Amino acid sequence: EMFGQLTSGLETAWNKLKGEEVLTKENIAEPMRDIRRALLEADVSLPVVRRFVQAISDQAVGTGVIRGVRPDQQLVKIVNDELVKLMGGEVSELVFAKTGPTVILLAGLQGVGKTTVSAKLALYLQKLGKNCMLIAGDVYRPAAIDQLVILGEQVGVPVYAAGTEIKPAEIARQGLAEARKRNVDVVIMDTAGRLQINKTMMDELKEVKRVLNPTEVLLVVDAMTGQEAAALVTTFNLEIGITGAILTKLDGDSRGGAALSVKEVSGKPIKLVGRGERMEDLEPFYPDRMAGRILGMGDVLSFVEKAQEVMRQEDAEELQKKIMSAKFDFNDFLKQTRAVAQMGSMSRVIGMIPGMGKVTPAQIREAEKNVKMMEAMIEAMTPEEREKPELLAESPARRKRVAQDSGKTEQQVSQLVAQLFQMRVRMKNLMGVMEGGSLPALSN
Ligand code: GDP
Repeated sequence: EMFGQLTSGLETAWNKLKGEEVLTKENIAEPMRDIRRALLEADVSLPVVRRFVQAISDQAVGTGVIRGVRPDQQLVKIVNDELVKLMGGEVSELVFAKTGPTVILLAGLQGVGKTTVSAKLALYLQKLGKNCMLIAGDVYRPAAIDQLVILGEQVGVPVYAAGTEIKPAEIARQGLAEARKRNVDVVIMDTAGRLQINKTMMDELKEVKRVLNPTEVLLVVDAMTGQEAAALVTTFNLEIGITGAILTKLDGDSRGGAALSVKEVSGKPIKLVGRGERMEDLEPFYPDRMAGRILGMGDVLSFVEKAQEVMRQEDAEELQKKIMSAKFDFNDFLKQTRAVAQMGSMSRVIGMIPGMGKVTPAQIREAEKNVKMMEAMIEAMTPEEREKPELLAESPARRKRVAQDSGKTEQQVSQLVAQLFQMRVRMKNLMGVMEGGSLPALSN
């Protein structure tokens, strides 16, 4: 069971919240300690654990109650979302060169699964329709070259091998020339690993990197090594500059620390994961699926998501009702715009109001800018003016004062006043329709 210990450690946390009504600073204290312990036992590094737990507790006490959702379920959802974020959020795709072959340089310590990954990656890319070639560059382990040749045959990908009596950088140059001649889409170079990081290895890698000018430099790390893997990614990135990591042996009894720490510690994403010894066992790293596997609570997650969606829907309907029933002065106007702003995303709300079709992001940005501007002007109005927009409609002097106090132009103030009256008309029409009246002729 992958991450079994982590999963059950986290379960302890949810269980402590059974029977609670809401999440409070007090009742999450113990679950937070459980989460902290579970993560440390999974070999996630301490600073990462600290930040993670802090983020969770802030959200746990900051989020209101979602109707119908129990606090423990809510916490599961918060932890899930934070786990996804921790692992980089989105899947981080491999990058392909626009012209010429895409060159992927693989680095890593000995025994992490680098040679195996080379062949797995070639197979994976062949399946995506890429024409691949492998370069055998592990000159310090003669068996590694034979191994790659055999694996290459197995997956049906040509392997460029030049023996062990030649420098890796020279192999790289020859291999790349061969790849160009063959017009392949992707060249993958396996390099020599050492038991530990040392200067010779780093210098060699730098040299190979200079020759290849690779599109991707991927560090292969072993999931079993936990936070050590994250530290390695950091070091290799600082030394040679890498584009991401491949995490192997995720099928073993790895505790999860590597998967959870790499991105946060090194800033570099895990792009692919190895989940077995077969050539097919390589796949993209999906933070959301990984979080789902760790928590093992897919049904709870989708339930909470649905409940949140219903809440948002109800809020939107409430807002709509208010808009339509109010006599609608500037106070209402301000309340509504603030309510909308508080809900975070205008797009959601607009999207939920029936009759409002799809809006573009540019329109939304524009709308949000407008809201700010309107707020400034309404704040500059007297209470009386807010309640009786007619006062402003009738008096240029008042409009001028509002303009001056809000730092806007008189024209902008006039527009806002006109807008409010237009809105009143539109609402009256809309209400007419809702009450069964005939459809008004709307002029545009
Ligand atoms: P290298 O020294 O980095 O080139 O490592 P190898 O490619 O020779 O792999 C070392 C061992 O790890 C081999 O026995 C592989 O079969 C095994 N291995 C590699 N990747 C995985 C994986 O994702 N899961 C498991 N279970 N074993 C793996």
